[in-house]
Amino acid sequence: MNFLAAAGVRRLCAMRAVLPCLWRGKYFSSGNEPAENNTVTPMLRHLIYKIKSTGPITVAEYMKEVLTNPAKGYYMNRDMLGEEGDFITSPEISQMFGELLGIWFISEWIAAGKNAAFQLVELGPGKGTLLGDILRVFSQLGSLLKNCDISLHLVEVSQKLSEIQALTLTEEKVPLERNAESPVYMKGVTKSGIPVSWYRDLQDVPKEYSFYLAHEFFDVLPVHKFQKTPHGWREVLVDIDPQVSDKLRFVLAPCATPAEAFIQNDETRDHVEVCPEAGVVIQELSQRISLTGGAALIADYGHDGTKTDTFRGFCGHRLHDVLTAPGTADLTADVDFSYLRRMSQGKVASLGPVEQQTFLRNMGIDVRLKILLDKTDDPSLRQQLLQGYNMLMNPMKMGERFNFLALVPHQRLHGRNHQTNARQSKPSLSPVAGFGELAWQ
Ligand code: SAH
Repeated sequence: MNFLAAAGVRRLCAMRAVLPCLWRGKYFSSGNEPAENNTVTPMLRHLIYKIKSTGPITVAEYMKEVLTNPAKGYYMNRDMLGEEGDFITSPEISQMFGELLGIWFISEWIAAGKNAAFQLVELGPGKGTLLGDILRVFSQLGSLLKNCDISLHLVEVSQKLSEIQALTLTEEKVPLERNAESPVYMKGVTKSGIPVSWYRDLQDVPKEYSFYLAHEFFDVLPVHKFQKTPHGWREVLVDIDPQVSDKLRFVLAPCATPAEAFIQNDETRDHVEVCPEAGVVIQELSQRISLTGGAALIADYGHDGTKTDTFRGFCGHRLHDVLTAPGTADLTADVDFSYLRRMSQGKVASLGPVEQQTFLRNMGIDVRLKILLDKTDDPSLRQQLLQGYNMLMNPMKMGERFNFLALVPHQRLHGRNHQTNARQSKPSLSPVAGFGELAWQ
């Protein structure tokens, strides 16, 4: 069967974002751009109070407060994705992105022996667009998956975004769970009858055979920033500017701070960003995959332990000073893929990072584009498909800057399968799709 032809072929999705919008992975900022907006936000007042009470805070604490403070955090109560928002992501640009990822999961599921059930777990699902596109592929390949028991598990801290995800996936408003003690805070059923549950923390997701997806999730996790000085590493902190009331500034810690432990002994850069929370998530994923099987696909913009100062803000598709009007702009830092690989601690095999253009090409985006173009005569839809392709694949746009990393059980690469599965007849020797060409029967 030609999966690329079968997947979602009957459905050409409606127009997505009118391009070009700014995606987050393009620029570097150290917060030095001129302030665009000096509003004293509720978040700024909260931070000033906090710093006055306990002293300067780490950049990681600043990021965490600004983004996910339950009451005032940037992510908690708004829809920031898309044309009307602050930035745009690949799934919001083209349906092809999610479709090819859907095919990746099916390909891995087949290669690992067609387990009788799997959980699809997404970390930070945004508007649910990516999952929606993946599920459409699952539906189109229904004959393949018909005996497989699939469930969806969304790890999301934002109340607002979880409501949007519920509408996207179930076409209904899903009420909050009544039992406040339950780790599942919402529960619904998708349009195609797949159960879906929402959690605030990965640790609460049942430890069953799962495929994990994290797209532009790791870049919003809080980073500590360090500067090399004649006295050794010093952490960058956020303090109140003594010259200007209601303004924040960066300072260096006067002495060593605990997060220095995350810097490698042989580090040669003079400025580094470390993200302990990313390490915790990777350890959890690796532990789970090594115990129960499955795989994780991580896609983000980032580097391999080479970049220095990548902390930046986005508001209304423009770069935004990271210390100005906190709570009104997205904050992000490039993902250090070398750190993610290190944090898997050999429990699983890692593949990549490979550039987005390579991954998507290996997954067959060129064939998919042709199939979709052949399906429509509508000039605006055709233009949207071509523009979306260009945005995702062009090395000057998202093609090079975004990377894919996969975590799979060691057995997967050795051609052995540790999952007990009566339906599996022989072990798979095929390479992992995306990291090599998609090749399946
Ligand atoms: N994956 C989506 C959205 C990326 S934006 C896309 O590519 O379009 C980051 C997402 O992560 C949002 O859904 C945000 O609410 C969520 N998020 C941020 N911090 C989180 C955390 N600590 N735990 C879980 N979700 C988080």
